[in-house]
Amino acid sequence: MSRPAENTSTTVGAGTEEGSPSERLLFGGPLLHDTGWNKHERAYLEMSLWAMASSLPRLVASTVRLAWRADRRALWAVGCAEVLHGVTQAIGLVAVNEVLGAVLATGPIADRLHAAVPALIWVAVTSLVGALAMSASTAGTGRLEPKVERVATEMYLERVIRVELEAIEDEDFHRLLDSAQYGAAGARRMIRYCTAVVGALVSFAAAAGVLTVLHPALLPLLLLMTLPRSWAALRNSRTRYESFQRWAQHARAGRLLSQTLIRTDPAPEIRVHDVGPFLLGHFRSMSESSEGEQTRLARSAAKTRLIASALTGIATLVTYLALGGLLLTGVMALSVAGTAVLATRSGAASLTTLILQVNSLYEEACYVMDLERLCVEAHKRAIPVGGLPVPDQPRLIRFEDVTFTYPGDSGDSGTRRPALSGVTLDIPMGKIVALVGENGSGKTTLVKLLAGLYQPGEGAIRWDGQDAGALDRADLFSRFAMVSQDFHRWPLTARMNIAIGRTDGPLEEERVEAAARYAGARKVVEEMPRGWDTLLSRGYKGGHQISGGQWQKLGLARAHYRDAQILIVDEPTSALDARAELEVFEQIRQLAQAGQTVLLITHRLASVRDADLIHVLEKGRLRESGTFEELTDNPPVGIFRDLYEMQRRQFVDEQAAALPGQRKPADADATETSREL
Ligand code: ADP
Repeated sequence: MSRPAENTSTTVGAGTEEGSPSERLLFGGPLLHDTGWNKHERAYLEMSLWAMASSLPRLVASTVRLAWRADRRALWAVGCAEVLHGVTQAIGLVAVNEVLGAVLATGPIADRLHAAVPALIWVAVTSLVGALAMSASTAGTGRLEPKVERVATEMYLERVIRVELEAIEDEDFHRLLDSAQYGAAGARRMIRYCTAVVGALVSFAAAAGVLTVLHPALLPLLLLMTLPRSWAALRNSRTRYESFQRWAQHARAGRLLSQTLIRTDPAPEIRVHDVGPFLLGHFRSMSESSEGEQTRLARSAAKTRLIASALTGIATLVTYLALGGLLLTGVMALSVAGTAVLATRSGAASLTTLILQVNSLYEEACYVMDLERLCVEAHKRAIPVGGLPVPDQPRLIRFEDVTFTYPGDSGDSGTRRPALSGVTLDIPMGKIVALVGENGSGKTTLVKLLAGLYQPGEGAIRWDGQDAGALDRADLFSRFAMVSQDFHRWPLTARMNIAIGRTDGPLEEERVEAAARYAGARKVVEEMPRGWDTLLSRGYKGGHQISGGQWQKLGLARAHYRDAQILIVDEPTSALDARAELEVFEQIRQLAQAGQTVLLITHRLASVRDADLIHVLEKGRLRESGTFEELTDNPPVGIFRDLYEMQRRQFVDEQAAALPGQRKPADADATETSREL
């Protein structure tokens, strides 16, 4: 996966603090972050060279652990091959020294060449073994890399699926998710860099050893030569990482625009409303600001490299002057000076490689650390495991003075507005309980709390007196099936779209059939080109599209297949025609007769006529409770009655408009009409 900073078309750029016009218009403000979403990140950015070097063993250890989990045999092979390669290099250098010593000695040239033959053989053998070791290392690394990426990706996903819903909806956590998703690819690349680091380290040690033996002053000079490049590499990678963090959301938004243009569901609206050119224009403008940042990064990198090259030139000059001095003063023989030049060149090359690889390793490690940080954070925000068992056959669930506020949900005054306040109500088991109220009155929030997706801020939800907070959440979830308006339309086969309702056991064809029959989805499936095997996603081979109403039937079938104690149906009929809607309510009634608890959210007030209990919510508060008759005949407040009357009149007016001259007085057969609402 390429990181935003590498993806020139959608990413990084020089944005202003107020954001570009596109950001303001489409996303309501700037998407850049001042790197300050958390302190750890800055800590990495502020690391000194020394701190970086000292944190390296830990980073390498965590990559090695990943590699160990992924494929320990390949890891061994790579490690051994790299060490062998380094050893051959060291022996090779010593052998070269021997060869030079023999050739530059006094005596007839034939004798000198003859004397050099054994060392030459060593040079040849070490080159051959070194080459074999390198190819073994390449093969092992190639095998290891994809496995490490897979292990790291699994690690990421395993944690993510276990966090609370609240965390997934939290902006900061989402940014961490954004950044950590590059950790898996980072871990893959770290393997390559780790291998290269081990190789360069051993080669450097070999050259450094030979140099120290030749003259101790040569080693510090070698280090001096490589210092400027190390500084440049470190500085550049830090700048890139900082830029990545700052621009991560901007990059995601850019990708969102481009992805929206190619997705199938918005495709009709994009064409009819001609949104394409508009979005494309903003995609271009966002990309241009990203390109600005790319240019800034490139300029800064070029400047740093130029300074580094100048400093390296000076250091190299000093080194060769020192060598010349040693030769002139007779401290060093000519043959030794030849080896010293070779060792200096080889040592400088391996040290430069070492520094560059360490630096790349460090850059990748930043993303791997994001991944590790995500794991820690996800662990903290994970849905607790264990707890008391949920009562087997509960009789009553009671909300006791429940207040809930969504995190980060602030009103104009800056104070948070609760989505539910002081709600006390009963949900008797085996009954149909309806929740009604205007949009935004808190109905969906209430059922999400009931299902354990959120925890109440104040008050408690009690199952037969037992606080739900202490109950085993997995057990709690298993008691619910949900069909909401926006239930997920899985881009899978028709069969799977129902069977995914319960995945903790083997797929049961008969039960899938029964669920489809129950929800009236059998006919829908029969009409599909490949029946149960039809892929319900356009854009794939054999992909097929169905209507909103047909989806709703599949959704209902899925909830039935789940076979849970409590069925939550949130506006189950919004996409159904009148006949299908009546059928759904009839099916819901049958479920309740069979002992299932149904929690029904609907805006069609006539549909709750058969509910055993109706709770009326307004602005997050419970305003009325009772049966349909109680709420319409002699209500304590009258919200339900007023809403119901309004809907009934609207229905009568629509009927009258459809059949002019046949309008009946509203009160004459109110009961009959309301039945049909
Ligand atoms: P209803 O189902 O009655 O239409 P909701 O329970 O969906 O109402 O919403 C109640 C209030 O909570 C609304 O003000 C809504 O904006 C807010 N709300 C709903 N979901 C979220 C969420 N995930 N994050 C923040 N606020 C939310």
